[in-house]
Amino acid sequence: MALTDVNVVVPVSADEALAAFGDGTDVTVVAGGTIVMPELIAGRLRPKRALLLARAGLDGITRKGGTVTIGAATPVSALEDGDEPLASAARHVADLEVRAQATVGGNLCAEASADAPRGDLQAALIALGATVRSGGKGGERTEPVEDFLANSAGRLVLDVSYEEAPRQTGYASAWRPHAHHYTILAVAAAKRDGELRVAATGLGPRAVRLTAVEQSGNAADALGGLEPRDDALASAWYRGQLLPRLVERALGMLDGAEHA
Ligand SMILES: Cc1cc2nc3c(=O)[nH]c(=O)nc-3n(C[C@H](O)[C@H](O)[C@H](O)COP(=O)(O)OP(=O)(O)OC[C@H]3O[C@@H](n4cnc5c(N)ncnc54)[C@H](O)[C@@H]3O)c2cc1C
Repeated sequence: MALTDVNVVVPVSADEALAAFGDGTDVTVVAGGTIVMPELIAGRLRPKRALLLARAGLDGITRKGGTVTIGAATPVSALEDGDEPLASAARHVADLEVRAQATVGGNLCAEASADAPRGDLQAALIALGATVRSGGKGGERTEPVEDFLANSAGRLVLDVSYEEAPRQTGYASAWRPHAHHYTILAVAAAKRDGELRVAATGLGPRAVRLTAVEQSGNAADALGGLEPRDDALASAWYRGQLLPRLVERALGMLDGAEHA
């Protein structure tokens, strides 16, 4: 299939993007394209319609009325100096070039590949208690990140939001030294008004909330019934050994300075 065979739609507003997306049938969303474009060029992905989000006005970060809202098409690089633990997670995504192109919405919708996990921002957003606003079948929906990740098919992500408030935060990760830097496993934690939220990325296809650790505050409870993934970066056994250590490090950081 030649790229010219694809029906390319370039909406210039969020409403146009939602209308073009419809219920998502036969639509391939292209945001930064760092995952989609290589698949398309290699012929592994054969979309009927490609919905390009670059001009849909879905980028930008706003802080209003105590809420931080990040547009789906905001580049990952724009988060690097922002709120923790999201900023640390963003700084660990790939390299400079990829971070400038890759988007927040693409990261939320990224499935792990057979070679490496993706979606590093997901755990940090769960730790922040963020919600996702999306459109698609049944209209607009706003829900916690973890609920969205469990049921994201046929949704067009519009933005993510979380409360702007002082929190104690921690982020610990392990990665393979490589020009492109893929994360093996990462843990994000945030504590606010006594409520602890902890999540991990790299254990499975999507980030998971570590509720047992949230309840006990004990890193030894991290794995619970979870079965870590096996891939080209690391074995399931290695990830199982690593997880409690990363949780311990992330929890240990919570006693440090509060981040707004
Ligand atoms: C060399 C290299 C290194 C990488 N390293 C990392 C890493 O360390 N950590 C990491 O997390 N990722 C990594 N990635 C993967 C990728 O760059 C990121 O996950 C990135 O954030 C994806 O965003 P994107 O905008 O480029 O997504 P795209 O490629 O545009 O899209 C990815 C998926 O999300 C869907 N999508 C995109 N936007 C939306 C939306 N708004 N609503 C609904 N669906 C949408 C697309 O249809 C597609 O299925 C790497 C990629 C490369 C090429």
